[in-house]
Amino acid sequence: MTNLRWTACWLLWGVVALGQNAPSVIVIRAGTLIDGKSDKPRSNQIIVIRGNRIESVSAEANAKTPAGAAVIDLSGKTVLPGLIDSHTHIFLQGEDPAKGGYDANILSQGLALRALRAGVAARRALEQGFTTLRDVETEGAGYGDVGVKQAINLGYIPGPRLFISTRAISTTAGYMLEGYAPELEMPKGAQIVDGPVEARKAAREQLDHGADWIKVYMTHRSWVGKNGELASQPTLTVEELRAIVDETHGWGKKVACHAYSGIGLHRALDGGCDSIEHGLDLDDAAISQMLKQGTWYVPTLNVYYTDWAPADTPDGQRDRLRASAHEVSFKKARKAGVKIVYGTDMGGIPWTEPVAQDFPRMVEFGMQPMNAIQSATSRAAVMLDMEGKIGVIAPGAFADVIAVNGDPLLDIKLLENVDFVMKDGQVFHSK
Ligand SMILES: [Zn+2]
Repeated sequence: MTNLRWTACWLLWGVVALGQNAPSVIVIRAGTLIDGKSDKPRSNQIIVIRGNRIESVSAEANAKTPAGAAVIDLSGKTVLPGLIDSHTHIFLQGEDPAKGGYDANILSQGLALRALRAGVAARRALEQGFTTLRDVETEGAGYGDVGVKQAINLGYIPGPRLFISTRAISTTAGYMLEGYAPELEMPKGAQIVDGPVEARKAAREQLDHGADWIKVYMTHRSWVGKNGELASQPTLTVEELRAIVDETHGWGKKVACHAYSGIGLHRALDGGCDSIEHGLDLDDAAISQMLKQGTWYVPTLNVYYTDWAPADTPDGQRDRLRASAHEVSFKKARKAGVKIVYGTDMGGIPWTEPVAQDFPRMVEFGMQPMNAIQSATSRAAVMLDMEGKIGVIAPGAFADVIAVNGDPLLDIKLLENVDFVMKDGQVFHSK
């Protein structure tokens, strides 16, 4: 996006956010409507929006346009609900290893700089049509996501609806920064706990300070195992995880577990995780346990195709195995009927890249385009306990509406070029 366009978007946002000349009723003419829930699109629909909510959706032939309504003509476009990415890190920027990578982000960037960059990441998500993010931890920036969410909700900066998880939880030897002299006390990208008492206390602190979800790392390092399998180092014990899950469920909230494979993945399921993040190597037992427990699966396919080490090195072999195992797991989980929700790990990927980049992978790996869209709309909304409120264009939902040119069911890549974005009844940008 050019500076000029950014300025135009910002002005538009400012005017609407302040309520000047903002009509209380907006009518959208949708040429084609993919409502986020129905199996089939509908053509020539009229969406009536009053304030920040959708009031009605009806066929143009039967629709009555309320008097005085502002009309937005998207009759040449495909209209969809605002998209949801359920695995992002606005406090990461795809750190370049040549510039110090992950460690430099923590060691040499102050919290104000990190928060401002997180604000830019949030805006980039919104301008690409992602009106909701579940952001799964700040990577050493403490409770910075609480502040960014407040800034968005108070109208200071444009950004998606944020579901935040603050600091995340892992164990000793279970998170970066690492590899420094043992006598140095290094800062960590997650809150470190050992034992169920510390684990429960960390969950309490994070929930107290505004976590909407608790994020737990159930595996850390990974390598190619003795039998050629993707091996990963387990972190929390089942006892430690149960303390976190028990506490979090008591608050009516959920636990997202980063888990690659093996022992850590099985502990995540035995301990009652609500969502498995990445899930690179799901064996059959894990898949049947996920079905039985209703566990959500948030694969992050595309990120594992970036930054491979050379093929003849152990890390390079590990990197390739992560991608190939993930493909197999995704296909098995989809066939078995596991509830799959869209996630990218943006932040691990620079925010200059498209947030919609996982859709083509999902379709390449056999998911129907409509199913892939629902993984980022109505299905994600159910996981976030927002069913009927987001991820759908239907009466009563928040007016989060986007549009693209052409038919994303024929070419899913079109979702990378969203040219109309409305969040909460306010037009953010329109080409
Ligand atoms: Zn992540």
